[in-house]
Amino acid sequence: MIYFDNAATTKMCKEACEAMFPLLGELCGNPSSAHEAGQAAASALFIAHRDISSCLGCEPNEIFFTSCGSEGDTMALLSAAEYGTSQGKRHIISQKAEHHAVLNTLKALEKHGFEITLLDVDQYGMVSPENIARSIRTETALVTIMTANNEIGTIQPIAEIGKICRERNVLFHTDAVQAAGHIPLDVTALNCDMLTISAHKFHGPKGVGAVYIRRGVPVTPLIYGGGQERGKRGGTENLPAIVGMAAALKHCVSVMSERTEYISTLRDRLIDGISELPNAHLNGHPTIRLCGNVSFCFGDTEGERLVYLLNKKGICCSSASACSSGLSEPSHVMLAIGRSPELAKGSLRLSLSEYNTAEEIETVISEIRNIIYNL
Ligand code: PLP
Repeated sequence: MIYFDNAATTKMCKEACEAMFPLLGELCGNPSSAHEAGQAAASALFIAHRDISSCLGCEPNEIFFTSCGSEGDTMALLSAAEYGTSQGKRHIISQKAEHHAVLNTLKALEKHGFEITLLDVDQYGMVSPENIARSIRTETALVTIMTANNEIGTIQPIAEIGKICRERNVLFHTDAVQAAGHIPLDVTALNCDMLTISAHKFHGPKGVGAVYIRRGVPVTPLIYGGGQERGKRGGTENLPAIVGMAAALKHCVSVMSERTEYISTLRDRLIDGISELPNAHLNGHPTIRLCGNVSFCFGDTEGERLVYLLNKKGICCSSASACSSGLSEPSHVMLAIGRSPELAKGSLRLSLSEYNTAEEIETVISEIRNIIYNL
C-alpha cells in the first residue's frame, strides 16, 4: 500500500509510540490522585504541558488539552464569543475556505445572534490582510483564519493578520491543525491569541489535541467536569495520548528543516509529473503551500472516481477533505478559489510525509497517467 493521505491522518512516529507505551501499562495512575501512581501521572502531564508550550512559544498554563482539533476550534471560538458578548461585541470575521470545524461553529453562533463575515479568498486560497482590516468594526469580537488549508495547502499570512487584529484590539484565533509540526509556529511571532493543533496530523495519536489560549483571554469550558485543565476542560486526561502528542510535536520540531526539504522535493516532482497531464490544474498557491500538499483538478474527471481507481492500485489518497468525501457536493474550498462546480468535483489531493519515497512518487505519477489516458 502507498499512503498519500497524510492531510487526513498520519502514521504515528516511533518517538510517540515509545513515549506512550509505559502509560498504557504500568504507569496507569490518574493525574488527580494523591498517591505515588497519581503523582507520576501528574508529572507526565506537567511535562507534556511544558513540551507542547515550548514548541509553540507560550507558557504551559496557556495550553489546554482537548480530544481533537474540532474541539480546540470550538473551545476557542465559543470562548471568544462569550467574551465578546460580555463587551457588547457580536461580530466575527473568517473566510470561505476554512475547515468545517470552524465554519459549522460559526453557523451555530449565527443562530445565536452573532453576525458572521466570511471573506473571499483569491484564486490560490489566500485571504487578504487588507480585506480583514477593512472588515473589522468596533463590534468585532474575533477574527479566525486557518494557518494552512487542509485541501489545497495554502499558507495564510498569519503574522500580518495577527498584527492587524492586535492593533485593532480584536481577538485572533488560528486553526493550525494542518500546519503544526510542519511549519514553525510561535504564538508571539504570529501575534495570535488562540491557536489549535491536533496530534494525528503530525504523527501523534488520534483523538487528542490542544488549544493555546493566551493568558488574560477568558476561557469558556465545553466540559465542566471535575476541574481538570485548571477547570477549563473537565474529564480525566487521556494521558497516553497527551504524552504521545507531546513526543510527536517535539520530534517534528527537531527534524523540521531536513524533513521539509525532503518532502518538498518529493512534492515538487509529483506536481511536475501531474502537471504534464491534459486538463490538470494545480490547486493552491504555487509556492506558499505546505511541503506535503499536492492538489489538482482534472477537467471533467470526477475526483471520487480517481480515488477509487487509485485505491484499486494500492494507492491511498483523497478527493477533497476526508471529512467531506463521500458527499457528492463539490468542495467549498474549490468553489471558494473560483473552480466551477464541475471542475471542483474533479479534485484529487495527495498529501505526503517523510515516510514516502521517490519510487512511490514515480509509481503514482505513472498510475495517474494510465488512468487519465484510459478513462
Ligand atoms: N482543522 C483543520 C484545518 C483540519 O484539517 C482538521 C481535520 O482534518 C480539523 C480542523 C479537525 O481536526 P480533528 O480531526 O482532530 O477534529
